[in-house]
Amino acid sequence: MTMSKFSAYNFSGRKALIRVDFNVPLNDKYEITDDTRMRAAVPTIKKITGDGGSVILMSHLGRPKDGPTEKYSLKHLVAHLSKLLGGAPVAFANDCIGKEAEDAAAKLQPGQVLLLENLRFYKEEEKGNEQFAEKLAKLGDVYVNDAFGTAHRAHASTAIIAKFFAVDKRMFGLLMEGEVSSAEKVLHKSEKPFVAIIGGAKVSDKILIIENLLERATDIIIGGGMAYTFMKAAGGKIGKSLCEEDRLDTATDLIKKAEAKGVCIHLPSDSVIADKFAADAETSVAPSNNIPDGWLGLDIGPNACEQFANVIKRSKTILWNGPMGVFEMEKFQHGTKVVATAIAEATQKGSFSLVGGGDSVAAVNQFGFTEKVSYVSTGGGAMLEYFEGKVLPGIAAVQS
Ligand code: AMP
Repeated sequence: MTMSKFSAYNFSGRKALIRVDFNVPLNDKYEITDDTRMRAAVPTIKKITGDGGSVILMSHLGRPKDGPTEKYSLKHLVAHLSKLLGGAPVAFANDCIGKEAEDAAAKLQPGQVLLLENLRFYKEEEKGNEQFAEKLAKLGDVYVNDAFGTAHRAHASTAIIAKFFAVDKRMFGLLMEGEVSSAEKVLHKSEKPFVAIIGGAKVSDKILIIENLLERATDIIIGGGMAYTFMKAAGGKIGKSLCEEDRLDTATDLIKKAEAKGVCIHLPSDSVIADKFAADAETSVAPSNNIPDGWLGLDIGPNACEQFANVIKRSKTILWNGPMGVFEMEKFQHGTKVVATAIAEATQKGSFSLVGGGDSVAAVNQFGFTEKVSYVSTGGGAMLEYFEGKVLPGIAAVQS
């Protein structure tokens, strides 16, 4: 394998301006409750400091509406970042542009790290303002985009800024490289059979991704709440299961398109049904197209588990987005676990598996499968848009 642009670059004596995604959840004492996104950036930071370069980190945090707000200050992250970097000091600038940021950046010595204040304290960030991007660009000699989670936004720091750096001085960081190459492998270089497993609550959220995958996948498994709209569209009885009445035609249309393209759509033959949407509901099993009145399907049933696992185990490329049932409740998590287990088995036998999108990532983490799949994406919305076939501004700006 050829070395990536980032790995091959020698950062010695350079100031690298890195767009990271440090949009971590904080509790009301400003403690970080999940540092996954911060940990994901550490290898990129360490490569640069290890080379003898210095690092300037910029990120957004939350959705501040009116400029600087204590709640959204990135200063709350400094101590933890220093800990993640093995105790290396982390300097902080109270502003992301202007004199304070420029002085702090100018003072940086090889191996040192500076964190800038929240980019979204300026409205210009989300507006993709050029002058703002240019002011940020002044702070570093090299631009590194390592924020896959915001790659689908054409913001100043994620996309617009790239044009102020020569082609050889703008690149992806290690996290972004991993995300982009995994996604490309699935979408453009997939080994067949290629199964896409799509679940979750709503058909409306997943129409574009299913349409795009019809061009590429061999099989599409549809589970979760969205399966019942398909069942009803085909004339099934679904009780009070989740259904988007205004998407019945879309579901019929997708099935027809799949038939025309020779893509096999798999719907759950049976379901675990419940008398109410609750963790302590009465449960039973019924055909997914014959659910009694007053009951609702909250997980795929035992036959569907077997049916889906078989398709997954014979696939060489696997994409998973969205749970098979209400996995947050113990009674309805079996289907999601079976799918995760089948993916792990296929992966162990050499298939490539990518898990992307908030809730399937949460399920994989919760059930302990993170290390057993080929890649777990950190970018929910960005990953979804990528698989919808859209050009992501954050990727395009660095590549063009
Ligand atoms: P999404 O964000 O669209 O991927 O949807 C994820 C959510 O869908 C999770 O919170 C699941 O609990 C929910 N979900 C999955 N299956 C069902 C179902 N059969 N009925 C209702 N909600 C479901």
